[in-house]
Amino acid sequence: MTIYNLGSINADLVYRVPHLPAPGETISTTEISKGLGGKGANMSVAAARAAARVVHIGAVGPDGAWAVDRLMEYGVDTRRIATLPEMTGHAVIAVDDAGENTILLHGGANTALREADLAEALEPSREGDFFLFQNETTCQREAAEIASRQGLRVAYAAAPFDAAAVQAVMPLLDLLVLNSVEGAQLEEATGLAPEALPVRDVVVTLGADGCRWIETDSGTSRHFPAIPVVPVDTTGAGDTFTGYLLAGLDRGLPMAQALVLAQRAAALMVTRHGTADVIPDLKEVQDLRF
Ligand code: ADP
Repeated sequence: MTIYNLGSINADLVYRVPHLPAPGETISTTEISKGLGGKGANMSVAAARAAARVVHIGAVGPDGAWAVDRLMEYGVDTRRIATLPEMTGHAVIAVDDAGENTILLHGGANTALREADLAEALEPSREGDFFLFQNETTCQREAAEIASRQGLRVAYAAAPFDAAAVQAVMPLLDLLVLNSVEGAQLEEATGLAPEALPVRDVVVTLGADGCRWIETDSGTSRHFPAIPVVPVDTTGAGDTFTGYLLAGLDRGLPMAQALVLAQRAAALMVTRHGTADVIPDLKEVQDLRF
C-alpha cells in the first residue's frame, strides 16, 4: 500500500554562536550546517527508511530543488511536490555553547499551498492507503476530506499543536498521534480526555516513558515502555516514531507490533544529533540491541 503524506519541507539552518544574541546585538557565527527538516519531510523519510512506499505532498520554492533531491535519495516519491514562487520553508536555529537555542521558523512555500495544488495529489490512491498530515502546511482539512472520501485511513500528528486545527479535522481521523503536552492541551481545549475523543485509535507519546495506545471503541489503554537508551538529542524523535508507526501499520502489522517498531526507531534516533538526514533505516532498527 502507499502512505500519502501532506507535510512541510524545511531547510534547517543551524548556526553555532558563542551566546544567543540579545535584542539589537550582532554576533558572528562560528559554524553553519544545513540539513533537511520539517515535520512532514522527517515523517516521509522515516516511513521510507522503514521500507514503506511514501508519496510526499507539499511544496518548495525555487531554492528547494536540493531538498526534493534529498527526499528522493531517501526513497520518497517526490512527484507531487509543487515548486511555488515563495521561498522554501526554513528554520534559522542559533545554538550557543551551552546548547541553548532560539529558532525562527518561516513557513514559506509550506504555507502557500493552495487547494488547486492538491487537485491530483491523492490520485490514484486506493482504499486502505494511508493519508498522513501534520500542522505545518495549509490545506490540511481539504486534503483530509478528499482522503477520507476516497477511503484512505486518515492519520494526524497534531504538531505544532493548535486546538482549533485538531478540532477542524477530528471527525475525519482514524488515528491521532500526540505527545503528552499536546494531549493535555487538547483535553484543556475540548474537555475530552484521550479516551473520550471521537477517533478510533489515539497514541500519546511520553518521551522517555514510552507511549500509550488508546482504543476508544473499547476504552482500553495500553502502556508501552520506551527502549532504554542514553539520549543525546531528542529532535525528530516524535517524527521518526510516527513515520515508523505508519510504515508498520501500512505493512499490515497489528498496532502493538507497529508501536514497538516505532519505539525502537525513535530510541535509536535520540542517540543521534540531527533530523531527517540521520533517521535510521529498517535494518539498523531491527539490529538494535539493548
Ligand atoms: P515528541 O518528539 O513529539 O515530543 P516524544 O518526546 O514523546 O515526542 O518522543 C516520541 C517517542 O520517542 C517516545 O514515545 C519514545 O518512544 C521515543 N523517545 C523519546 N525520548 C526517548 C528517550 N529518552 N529514550 C528512549 N526513547 C525515547
